[in-house]
Amino acid sequence: MSNNPLRLIIFGRQGAGKGTQCALLIERYGSVHISTGDILRAAVAEGTEFGRRADDYMAAGNLVPDEVMIGIVKDRLAKDDVVAHGFLLDGFPRTEAQAQALIDTLGENGIDLAIDIDVPLELVKERIAGRNRADDTAEAVERRLADYEAKTVPAVRWFATIDKLVSINGVGTESEVFARLTEVIDAHT
Ligand code: AMP
Repeated sequence: MSNNPLRLIIFGRQGAGKGTQCALLIERYGSVHISTGDILRAAVAEGTEFGRRADDYMAAGNLVPDEVMIGIVKDRLAKDDVVAHGFLLDGFPRTEAQAQALIDTLGENGIDLAIDIDVPLELVKERIAGRNRADDTAEAVERRLADYEAKTVPAVRWFATIDKLVSINGVGTESEVFARLTEVIDAHT
């Protein structure tokens, strides 16, 4: 493992365990966790005008428009803590336009690796059904999963074309999946 700040993208369907694994990864590598879902939920909780608009998209399981998300992430990436400690992008990019904007901002060498935590569709559906989140209505879950296949999978594949993508098996215990993640991170950075 090098001492350079680690700059990672974590991909995975809703229910793939990204949130849990990101918490473990930031503890281990010290990068800054940038979860676009968390940023949006904080805006919703603050009750700002922007938060109210974001909430309409989120509650329905729709994506917030690209230009809004790209602006938010660009601002966050420019902050001192991220520049100094690197980042763990969670929930962004979700479309090819977001991926392109990210690379336009950082350059291909501005990220070390994109990791796809792969959990089969049937299993994430079981996991989501077993939890109790207010925004997990059946329609919203279906829409998010369909959007992931239609819009995010092309963005994931795009990182393969620049040799930055590694896929890991996301089926297993938290510590098994974490061990797979650290193995690929340490091998590639
Ligand atoms: P998450 O916590 O990453 O599942 O995000 C929760 C919700 O926030 C998503 O279902 C989207 O409505 C919205 N969202 C989060 N990140 C993005 C993004 N990069 N692009 C568009 N919408 C997003």
